[in-house]
Amino acid sequence: MIEPFLAAVPVLKKLESAGFEAYFVGGSVRDFLLNKEINDVDIATSATPDEVKKIFSKTVDIGIEHGTVLVLFQGLSYEITTFRSEAEYEDFRRPKEVSFIRNLTEDLQRRDFTMNAIAMDKDGSLVDPFNGQISIKNEVIETVGKAVDRFQEDALRMMRAVRFVSQLSFKIEEKTLNALKDLVHLLENIAVERKQAEFDKLLSGDDRKQALELILETNIYSYLPGLSNQEDKIKLMFDYKLEKLNKREMWALLVYCLNFEKKDKEEFLRGWRIPLKEIREIQLILHYLNQRFETSWSLYDLYTAGKEIFVSSEILYLVINGIEDQNSITHYLQVYEQLPIKERSEMDVTGNDLMEWFNKTGGPWVKELLFKIEQAIIAGKIANNKKIIREWLMECNHN
Ligand code: ATP
Ligand code: MG
Repeated sequence: MIEPFLAAVPVLKKLESAGFEAYFVGGSVRDFLLNKEINDVDIATSATPDEVKKIFSKTVDIGIEHGTVLVLFQGLSYEITTFRSEAEYEDFRRPKEVSFIRNLTEDLQRRDFTMNAIAMDKDGSLVDPFNGQISIKNEVIETVGKAVDRFQEDALRMMRAVRFVSQLSFKIEEKTLNALKDLVHLLENIAVERKQAEFDKLLSGDDRKQALELILETNIYSYLPGLSNQEDKIKLMFDYKLEKLNKREMWALLVYCLNFEKKDKEEFLRGWRIPLKEIREIQLILHYLNQRFETSWSLYDLYTAGKEIFVSSEILYLVINGIEDQNSITHYLQVYEQLPIKERSEMDVTGNDLMEWFNKTGGPWVKELLFKIEQAIIAGKIANNKKIIREWLMECNHN
């Protein structure tokens, strides 16, 4: 076995010595079998949440109603979920109620795909009643049990299938794909937040292009916020080297290809329930991208954009123009590093200084003058030094 499982073995042992079963499950076991980097190690146990909380001293209730407790152990955290079945489903989404069970196989049976339904015990032995290892070997995504039933239980699984295509470069098995095409309309019932989580992962996977093609081919796009009827515009994305972009840049490219009016951009992103901070970042990237189409970066634009937004806008600019060479990024980063200040708060002058120097009360003039000084500092016309700024102001009577 390898890290991070090794660090988590004592957690399984603690549960077992209290008389319960405990296994590693889900994505971590799959990624381990694929020799991929392992994200979070999830644990499934026969202990109920209350029983788990009695065994570990530091726990956080993060999803008790679904049977999940977060356990903090030796500086790391683990999601421990009680074996459960999801007998009854309502409206094609999540189960109406979960019942905790003591049986591992039943817990694996409620999982979406065979590759995600493998358990591993503390010694590294696998429990694989649905032949997930064979699916992994054949690189196929197939549901545990009949795809038609499983997608009717929870339609989000159809999007999960496609995001795994993006992340793992697997194929969707034929029956699973046919069921997906037949039942795609059920995605209508799924909360935007859940769709967004899967779409985010789809946009950052290695095989994002193939996954986006599947989104179109299966008609999933018709059930995604702001994307129905946009097939032609989504297709514009395929002209670009998508793999060079991170998630935020992918969103920006999508918005760029959709070619919205300004206010519709924000509405589109809000429709996806993207956090406001991220919406602002995407908007800034697009703003500087537009500038970039007109002209090269000015010192002041580099300064106001900041390093991260600058890099994202420039990468997007290069990708859209099919420019392989990333020298411009290195060049502008050097220019950025040499800026005398990186933030307004670093200016060696305040509004109070100005009011005192000119013996005037506050007003819009203070902001305007500060802006002028800021631009002069960035342009290298004056040093960022209180005395020099004052002399400069007095000299050219900037008040
Ligand atoms: P990732 O590496 O992206 O976290 P993952 O497979 O761990 O991938 P999660 O969303 O973290 O995906 O879910 C953990 C596990 O829970 C899955 O591997 C699967 O067994 C199960 N699971 C998650 N969502 C569903 C669902 N909608 N229906 C059935 N099982 C699910
Ligand atoms: Mg996971």
